[in-house]
Amino acid sequence: MAGEPSIPLAFLKNLIPVQELPDVAFGKRRQTVTTHVGNVPIGSAHPVVVQSMTNTDTADAAATAAQVAALAGAGSQLVRVTVNNDAAAEAVPEIVQRLADEGVDVPIVGDFHYNGHLLLTRHPECARALAKYRINPGNVGSRRRDENFRAIVQVAVDNDRPVRIGVNWGSLDQDLLTEMMDANAAAAVPREAKDVYMEAMLESALRSATLAEETGLAHDRIIISAKISQVPDLVEVYRRLASRCDYPLHVGLTEAGMGMKGIVASSAGLSILLSEGIGDTIRVSLTPKPGGDRTEEVLVAQQILQSLELRSFAPQVTACPGCGRTTSTFFQQMAEDIQGYLRQQMPAWREERPGVVEMKVAVMGCVVNGPGESKHANLGISLPGTFEEPKAPVYMDGQFLTTLKGDHIVEEFLVILEDYVERTYAPGAAEVTS
Ligand code: SF4
Repeated sequence: MAGEPSIPLAFLKNLIPVQELPDVAFGKRRQTVTTHVGNVPIGSAHPVVVQSMTNTDTADAAATAAQVAALAGAGSQLVRVTVNNDAAAEAVPEIVQRLADEGVDVPIVGDFHYNGHLLLTRHPECARALAKYRINPGNVGSRRRDENFRAIVQVAVDNDRPVRIGVNWGSLDQDLLTEMMDANAAAAVPREAKDVYMEAMLESALRSATLAEETGLAHDRIIISAKISQVPDLVEVYRRLASRCDYPLHVGLTEAGMGMKGIVASSAGLSILLSEGIGDTIRVSLTPKPGGDRTEEVLVAQQILQSLELRSFAPQVTACPGCGRTTSTFFQQMAEDIQGYLRQQMPAWREERPGVVEMKVAVMGCVVNGPGESKHANLGISLPGTFEEPKAPVYMDGQFLTTLKGDHIVEEFLVILEDYVERTYAPGAAEVTS
């Protein structure tokens, strides 16, 4: 207010205790070596890789190849298939061939439990067709655990394939856990059981990595994961893991669950870790509804990375939630139509105009925040709220462009959008990832 004395800054400083904030750049990656899985590099020098897993019977080569193609089409850069028996191992080369015939170039990862050492040695064509082997050190047998583990690693060495040492707290090496629990119980100051459990997971992963290297696998042919189903524990275990090795880390919340719960829990856990630079490849382990679309897990993983501004996959629509000023469904319908249009165009745009993934479109319900938000987007439109004049101002690159009126606002806005894309994103002009 005019004439009112301003509050001296020193006074404010005395009121608000100044705390030292940690000097951590958002998303600055923890340094790792690079592990190549097929033609996909994984490590801190490369964008975080999105991967997924099929839920078909791998022995059904046609169904599995079709789902792999769908996952790859959605943007999964690696796809894992379970290899649980001889029939599955025999189907793997056919799956890879079918994909090659369709022009789908995505590395296939084999997921092995209990009998991986047998399947990989009995089926050399399967071993050759796979781009990586996932080994769970808790599931390679107890009596001959190290021997079986070494047998898998030897196949990896012979075929020049990387492995993921994938520890899961639902199948943690029980002998190792018992050994560490006993040692803890005998300690002068025992730690909490959960703490020991986490340490056992790390010990299992890192001991296995050492054993793999002693068997002849190169240091840069190993990826590690240590998955847990509870978000705070996941964050804790990965922070510890990240500080103790420079292997690339595969991060994901295991058994995340269905629908909203799975999406939110995965987003919460992955966002914390990725913001701290932890995670070189991610998977979102959603349980689909019966007959549901498996590719949802890929879209969620991409959206997490794009929301954190770590990668860009598709144009983003900023839409306000609507409120009492938007009493009709017109605004929601328009946001939905524009989102749908962008999704529909993406397969062609991805090839022809890769820079479009950086585009931001604002669809706002009224003029309260509409023009302001529109100015921050590449293209923005503010619809008339209830009782407002029936006109919709459009902004382009921060500048007012035009006002749309009448019954064809959506169609006219899409024409503007298409024209903007053609003029702004030249063919092959931009990097897809950041
Ligand atoms: S922009 Fe308008 S319609 Fe949207 S939430 Fe804000 S006030 Fe409501």
